[in-house]
Amino acid sequence: MNQFPRFLAFLSAVIGLAALLAACRSAPPPDPLARYRPAFRADALPPDFDVAAAPRYDIDLRVNPGERRVDGVARIHLKNRSGRPMNDLYVRLYPNLPQLQGTMQLTGVSTLPGNYAAGFAYQDNNTTARITLSEPLPPGASTGLEITYHVEAPDRSGYVLFGASEGILNLPYSYPILAAQTGDPATPWRLDVPPPHGDIAIADPAFFAITATVPSGITLVASGVEITQTQSISNTVQHVLVAGPGPEWTMTVSDKFQKASLDVDGIHVNSYFLPQDAGAGRSALADAAAALRVYNRLLTPYPYTKLDIVESPTRYLGMEYPDLNYIGIDTYRDQRGSQEVLVAHEVAHQWWYALVNSDPFRYPWLDEGLAEHSSMLFMETLHGPGAAERMSSLRWQVPVNWAVKNGYDAPPGQTVTAFDGTNYEILVYAKSALFFDALYHALGHDKYLEVLRAYIDRYRFRTPLPSDFLAVVKEVGGIDPQPIYEKWILSGGKQSGPKADATPAPLPAP
Ligand SMILES: [Zn+2]
Repeated sequence: MNQFPRFLAFLSAVIGLAALLAACRSAPPPDPLARYRPAFRADALPPDFDVAAAPRYDIDLRVNPGERRVDGVARIHLKNRSGRPMNDLYVRLYPNLPQLQGTMQLTGVSTLPGNYAAGFAYQDNNTTARITLSEPLPPGASTGLEITYHVEAPDRSGYVLFGASEGILNLPYSYPILAAQTGDPATPWRLDVPPPHGDIAIADPAFFAITATVPSGITLVASGVEITQTQSISNTVQHVLVAGPGPEWTMTVSDKFQKASLDVDGIHVNSYFLPQDAGAGRSALADAAAALRVYNRLLTPYPYTKLDIVESPTRYLGMEYPDLNYIGIDTYRDQRGSQEVLVAHEVAHQWWYALVNSDPFRYPWLDEGLAEHSSMLFMETLHGPGAAERMSSLRWQVPVNWAVKNGYDAPPGQTVTAFDGTNYEILVYAKSALFFDALYHALGHDKYLEVLRAYIDRYRFRTPLPSDFLAVVKEVGGIDPQPIYEKWILSGGKQSGPKADATPAPLPAP
């Protein structure tokens, strides 16, 4: 009997087993972020990024633009970072804020896996839902929430951040946003209610996988990148997107939008605009591309793979979301002269808010001051020192002088509720920008940028305190920033005038 075939079979079995073992050995470790990676640069995350601690959203939603309505199911993966057992979880329902004039209702809440959500209750004028667990979530443990919800947005005129106006339907905050965790066992959740003059969301950097169904013929503009688009027989289109890392996800829809695009440093930049504003829409694209190019070189590389610039019925103002900026409609029409600097300001928020997370409630000056001063760096790079001096003088110093003269001065270093619609922009934008400008002149151009780059690298996708920024100035810049900080951020207007009764907020924790 010939043994050779048996030997060959044995040999091939050995080779097959060896190949299998080699394949097992070389299999890469699981990557929980694999599905989100099309949305961000490979080197955007710091090496020590705590993947498990970042919330992950899986949202299936349907938009009805005619009724200005969103129906959705959100599955939110979260980790207890409080250091103690949690009996309650909190999500924010920002459309219920009076300034947004919308509604958001939860129609079902459960936990995954195993339903141990005992119920939920609205609080803080329905801007928060407290979800009570029937058994506590241990410290360091993760769980999932499954929430069904619907949102209704208003039809408005004037400044419209949320809702329909001019053929554009803005739908930011149209999903339950997990409240930010502090890591402090005594007060583990941030449940601050933003006033009308401040930014809305306080949230931890998160990842998003979104399936959005919209009627055919409607342009969907959203944070993140589109993975697939499927036309259904029911006259709807299903968009699958991934987004993050970032504190928010947002979308806008319109049946009127036109689009222009270009690539900058490998980033896909899109401008969406109404047909009658096409010229300004193309200018906004060019301004955004220039701002990206400048900040990529002055600061650090942009963290995402695309950026959208969206015409928005927010009059002459803009608003920042991760990889998407609203630019106010008035700058497309009768305030074209201010569009370049507005775009530069909003694009700067991609570094100061999206990449280095901001706390727009407790430290709005750090968020807006950095964005505002970075837009001056952009103007200086493009148009020379004269443009920077004009900005410093006319955009910052003149309004601050007015505030001092008329009794509206106050320290910018206060929570957002210490200001009002009159002095918020002057103090939190202009006076704070003068703080960064004083640092810029004290450190010099190159050293100042070295400080900003070190600050970004240390706090990417984290939420630093003012004391963290000052520590980087001291360590990397080699100067004591305290006198400049006290002069511009902690001083002003306590002596007399209409603001004399405003109580300064406690100073930032060291
Ligand atoms: Zn801003």
